[in-house]
This record gives sequence, C-alpha cells and structure tokens, in this order.
Amino acid sequence: MDLLTTPDALTAWADAHRDAGRRVGLVPTMGFLHDGHASLMDLARPRCDALVISIFVNPLQFGAAEDLDTYPRDLKGDLGVCGAHGVDAVFAPSTMYPSDFATTVHVEGLTGGLCGASRPTHFDGVTTVVARLFGLSRCAVAAFGEKDWQQLMVVRRMVRDLAMPVTLIPGPIVREPDGLAMSSRNVRLTGDQRRRGLTLSRALTTIRDAVDGGETSVERLLTRGREALDADRVDYFQIVDAERLTPLTVVDRPARALVAAFYGSTRLIDNLAVGPDLPWT
Ligand code: AMP
Repeated sequence: MDLLTTPDALTAWADAHRDAGRRVGLVPTMGFLHDGHASLMDLARPRCDALVISIFVNPLQFGAAEDLDTYPRDLKGDLGVCGAHGVDAVFAPSTMYPSDFATTVHVEGLTGGLCGASRPTHFDGVTTVVARLFGLSRCAVAAFGEKDWQQLMVVRRMVRDLAMPVTLIPGPIVREPDGLAMSSRNVRLTGDQRRRGLTLSRALTTIRDAVDGGETSVERLLTRGREALDADRVDYFQIVDAERLTPLTVVDRPARALVAAFYGSTRLIDNLAVGPDLPWT
C-alpha cells in the first residue's frame, strides 16, 4: 500500500494507474476510521482497479467555534484498516490547498437547511475539498456514506451540475449492534452520553415504524420522535423530501428523517429513510 503525502503525489499515482488502463476509485474521509468507512472501501473495491482513501481533516468545513483542533486522529490505526480492506493507496497530506488557493464550490439551495443552518460554511468546505480530490485523483468512482445524507445529496448535485466524470457510490449507514450510527466522534462520548446518544437512532426508528404503520402527518411523527429523544440540545429534527431536502407536512414521497443533537460539546447526526425508497440515479 502506498502512502501519498502531497497533492502532486496523488496525481502522479492516479495518472500512472489510469495510463495503465486502470479505473481509480476514491473514498474521501477525515480519518479515525471505523467500520462505516471500511464499508465504503468494500463497496468501492470491486468497482475500481486502484483504490485510494483520502484522510484529511479539512479546515474549510469547520466553523471557527467547532472541533477542528480536537477532531480525533490516528494515522497508524487508519493505515491498518486500509491495509485490511485491500486499499492500494492512502492519501494523507498535511496541506491540501496551494497558498494562493482562491476557489470555493458552492451548491445553492440544498446547503441552506439542516446542517447548513447551524454550520453555514460547512458544505462549501465539503464541496470544495471533494472537487479538489476529484480533480487530483481524476477518480472514476467515489463512495460516500448515507450517514451524511445531506452531504451525499449536495455532492450528487455538484457532480451533476458540473458534469464531473465520476460515478458516486452511496453506502448504507453502519451502526453499532445497539443501533448507534458509527462516527469518529463517538469516542468522545462519556458512558452516560453514549447511552443517551442511542436515542437518536431510536427516535428515528420510532418515526419509521409509525410511517410503516400508516401515520403520514409530519407534525405527529416529529412529536413522537422528540418524545423518544434524550439529548442535551437538539440542533434540528426534521422530516424532509429525501432528494430536495425541503420540509414536508405529509410523508407522501421518498422522505428522510434527520436529526442532529449535542451530548455535551459532541454533536452527533443520524438519519433514516421513511416512506417509499428514493431510487438512486
Ligand atoms: P468522515 O470521515 O466522517 O468525513 O466520513 C467519511 C465518509 O464516511 C463519508 O462519506 C461519511 O458519510 C462516511 N461515513 C461515516 N460514518 C459512516 C457510517 N456509520 N456508515 C456509513 N458511512 C459512514
């Protein structure tokens, strides 16, 4: 497995594989890898010939008061995970952007609500770094997790709007046996926070089960969801059109229930499909 530490090294590595007729696959991450990340490697692996995992805690997607400095890091452990999942290269640069970097990629609309409401610069940071990673690697396929549903929809729109020559592979949310969505930030939870954090997925399944039982009123669904949720502070709890991310009053189409909540200073997010499935196109 190759360790690439500069943007130029990634481009040279990817060019060499493409020149040899190989399809490059990419899984962008911020590291501290867990089984959710590994599932994306396993999804991408058979869809490409040369698989690279990027590990970069991207300052552009953190707000001033957020946890950039304390985001968990463990490159040695991450290399072990990548090695065990047949990864060909890890791209772990200390700097991602040239000093005169001047471009921001902004997706309008989809980025305004949900996480974008409380993290106004977050998605510009995501789309800018993802666009740069696509450019550096010229990857043919790239895998993203449904754990970050809004991010997945935003990246999908960017790829469509800018006709980027990459096929996105969506990966289902990987959960702990008790239902907590895996996240690099889970390591920060105290025992009590971890126990109460479980109510995120419980609240979402309460809503999904009610929809399956015939309830369609978003107001009533969210009331039931909130009753099941135990958090220090709820950032948002919404049921939206799965693709457009617009709030619904009635679940009458593919929809997504999404929640973000704080446990102490740790912000966790989770989401679940409710109603009919969204066909992936
Ligand atoms: P992150 O390192 O948190 O930026 O995540 C990198 C990629 O892994 C993103 O596409 C995430 O959506 C995905 N991911 C993170 N956690 C999970 C999970 N529990 N299940 C599936 N994918 C995940």
